[in-house]
Amino acid sequence: MKKISRVPLTPLLKRFKFFFDLVKRTTDAYMFCSDLQNNVVMLSPGMVQEFELPAEVLEDMDSYWSPLIHPEERGFYLATIRDVLEGKNTGEYFREYRVKNRKGEYVWIRATGQVGTDQEGRPAIFVGMMNKMARRNKADEITGLLNKYQFEHSVKMALGEFRATGDGGAVMVFGLDNFKIVNETRNRTVGDMVLKHVAKTVADILPQTLTLYKLDGDEFGLIYPKATEEQVAGLFTAIQGSLAQPTLIGGQNFFCTVSAGTVFYPQSGKDYLVLHKHAEAAMDIAKQDGKNRNCLFSKEQYNRWVRAISLRDSLRASVEAGCAGFQLYFQPQVSARERKLIGAEALLRWQNAKGRMVSPMEFIPILEETRLIIPVGKWILREALVVCKKWRQTQPDFRVSVNLSYEQVRDPGFQEFVVECIKESGLPPEAVILELTESKIVADWNFVNQQFAVFREQGIAIAMDDFGTGYSSLSSLKNLSCDIVKIDREFVKKILESDFDRRLVKYTVELCHSIGLKSCIEGVEGQAEYELLASECGADSIQGYLFGRPEAVPDFEAKFLHGSVMAME
Ligand code: C2E
Ligand code: MG
Ligand code: MG
Repeated sequence: MKKISRVPLTPLLKRFKFFFDLVKRTTDAYMFCSDLQNNVVMLSPGMVQEFELPAEVLEDMDSYWSPLIHPEERGFYLATIRDVLEGKNTGEYFREYRVKNRKGEYVWIRATGQVGTDQEGRPAIFVGMMNKMARRNKADEITGLLNKYQFEHSVKMALGEFRATGDGGAVMVFGLDNFKIVNETRNRTVGDMVLKHVAKTVADILPQTLTLYKLDGDEFGLIYPKATEEQVAGLFTAIQGSLAQPTLIGGQNFFCTVSAGTVFYPQSGKDYLVLHKHAEAAMDIAKQDGKNRNCLFSKEQYNRWVRAISLRDSLRASVEAGCAGFQLYFQPQVSARERKLIGAEALLRWQNAKGRMVSPMEFIPILEETRLIIPVGKWILREALVVCKKWRQTQPDFRVSVNLSYEQVRDPGFQEFVVECIKESGLPPEAVILELTESKIVADWNFVNQQFAVFREQGIAIAMDDFGTGYSSLSSLKNLSCDIVKIDREFVKKILESDFDRRLVKYTVELCHSIGLKSCIEGVEGQAEYELLASECGADSIQGYLFGRPEAVPDFEAKFLHGSVMAME
């Protein structure tokens, strides 16, 4: 850099100095005011500091400035400045380019300026400012929509609008359901075509006042000022509707669903990063809730989501530590007529690293979703068989019921593992009952039945769990080849008061019997319920707090194993 001596202000700049000094205090932007005919410029101190320029008043600014400009934009910059100097641009000036700052990093700046002419019409003064851009304002390369940096800018503008006028609104992000599959099963070119199609289709149906932005990956964003919940719901339905129409892409008919997360500002955040994070979390929740929906952000749901994430991490750590923190409890199962102990259901328990017990209703879905249920399921089966073996020494016909998630059944090594495991345990296959817990989500009954057929041939019984909880229970009964139906507590809770519920249980048991299935009634808590179920409803076996809660092995042994007729609690 050439040596600099103090450059005096020119008379023209002196005329503007008072004003310039006032304005520069009101803005973070970098300001410049240039006397074009004398080639002297006056700069704001922030600009001098950021780009390590030698002084606030400089002669021949471009000898300092142009070396700092990124080579890709330098030629263009010099050409536009030449236009200014030669009087070819006497109006508004607008440029975006990269400049190296004092840390040696290139930052994008947006320069806007105005050229003023003297009485002869020659360019005399060039005044303007430069704003550092978070990133360059540019369209997304695939879709042509404004990109995530522009989205960020616009959300910030909307928040500014709220501060100025008090008007809030909504920020929505949405992603295509199963887009990964398009990329994996077709190719990226088709993936890009899909994104283009979605961008165009959605942009076409948006009200004119709304802009669609393309965010990372397969995600899009929208800002909806002054929106109500109904308007957001209407907008989402319109987006769903537009994408449900099949369109030919890459030679195949394509249509898709989307999952969205919406956050209202200022209620759920007054800061871009917070709003964006919350909208993304809501979208994630929408995806977990079965996709093809819009989830409105709520603090409670968000806290649950954050908790699920931390739960996921600690569960993974437990599994990696050889299933540390997991334990099996056993709940007695009793023959309905004789009230004799016939077996027990193994129920998984988990303590987190701080020693707190977490409910299975909370951690089992996470084990399933992360597929950690596969290694944990193997641990459960091994443990349950060891315990059953031991208890059969006291009670030779004792049977253990082990819960199975669909995810486990779908695992390729599952069948072989179960067969081997039982063989190694030395137990006869009749000692084991496998309970399929979430039959309502089974997508491929043929496959499940094929897997179970091998078990049933060997004598391992299959139970359908939770009958009566899902709306598809009857169809599951039709689809699953099984030996035992476990009727859920939901079904029996009200049999004392409700004649209808009593008949429903009775007919379900009869239906089971008529096709050769046994029934086990779960969740029996009271003596009167029990009596009704055993006599009038004709249930085969009972499992419930009336006969015993799930217990750890030593407690189960002490309470239940040393007397064969069950005492009432
Ligand atoms: P499930 O298989 O239907 O197990 C029965 C649930 O009902 C157990 O809850 C049990 O404690 C509860 N229960 C039993 N009798 C009564 C009663 O009289 N009254 C009431 N109110 N509740 C009763 P738990 O242990 O919390 O397990 C919940 C669910 O978690 C299980 O429902 C099962 O779907 C799942 N689960 C538990 N252990 C395992 C496992 O090892 N593997 C898999 N895949 N799922 C499991
Ligand atoms: Mg069960
Ligand atoms: Mg059940």
